Amino acid sequence: MKVFEKAPAKINLSLDVLYKREDGFHEVEMVMTMVDLADRIEMQELPRDTIIISSQAGYIPLDEKNLAFQAARLIKERYEVKQGVYIHLDKKIPVAAGLAGGSSDAAATLRGLNRLWKLGIGTSELQRLGAELGSDVPFCVTGGTAVARGRGEVLEPIESPPQCWVVLAKPPINVSTAEVYGKLRAAEIKRHPSTKQVIEAIRYKRFDDLCGELGNVLEEVTLDLYPEVRQLKEVMTRLGAEGVLMSGSGPTVFGLVSKESKVARVYNGLRGFCKDVYAVRLLTQ
Ligand code: ATP
Repeated sequence: MKVFEKAPAKINLSLDVLYKREDGFHEVEMVMTMVDLADRIEMQELPRDTIIISSQAGYIPLDEKNLAFQAARLIKERYEVKQGVYIHLDKKIPVAAGLAGGSSDAAATLRGLNRLWKLGIGTSELQRLGAELGSDVPFCVTGGTAVARGRGEVLEPIESPPQCWVVLAKPPINVSTAEVYGKLRAAEIKRHPSTKQVIEAIRYKRFDDLCGELGNVLEEVTLDLYPEVRQLKEVMTRLGAEGVLMSGSGPTVFGLVSKESKVARVYNGLRGFCKDVYAVRLLTQ
């Protein structure tokens, strides 16, 4: 038996940090949605009790550090599954990019193994399992568009944003999420995005308002550490993207573009600037 799952990339339309909690995590408020750039995960049952991961991407761990491995191990342990699984990750989402590629792979593995082994686990339980693997995993279990609070695991689904093109560009640098959060001084954040205004713009499908309200407090840290990300934002804006923001802790920058006629200009202009550029649609429901 074999199953397949798509694991789409997420972007943050807003990312706010309210304060640092006593447990060391940051209390966040984020609006997240998914784009049509996805890894493809193949899961094949193995008779013996083992988890094997493979991938064409040479630069991700294939052992227990891989989030898909951790998802498979968790579900096997929790539901006492004796069979093993071979998991192939066809990676399309750039790694360590701020697009939650690993988290989405983990979520897709939970969904896929639930089907493969006919475990009948409900969505909220899958999300609870996901929260044990990482803060973005519960959102990736369902996808769609949601406001995430807590450390990212408290989810409120909302409507889809107005459909548009999303041009993504990842400069060739690796950004550590832990380092960015470590350098953030929550009490000294200069400008907080308005989550409420972002939600309103989405609810009333006001594309221009949404572009104007995009905001990510982690930009303060990453743009200072990596001036090329700031430059990338400027280039994308100059090329005509209507709303431009860094996703997650970066370094990927995305630009929202309303008209198909403008997408090629933004895409081609960025290709002269960095290698990893994608023009995709939002995954609206
Ligand atoms: P986040 O914003 O959630 O930190 P990200 O999009 O910045 O995620 P990922 O692509 O998830 O970053 O990769 C972060 C790290 O996780 C990488 O350095 C990689 O070694 C490790 N990793 C573990 N499993 C995976 C996976 N299935 N795909 C990609 N990276 C993985």
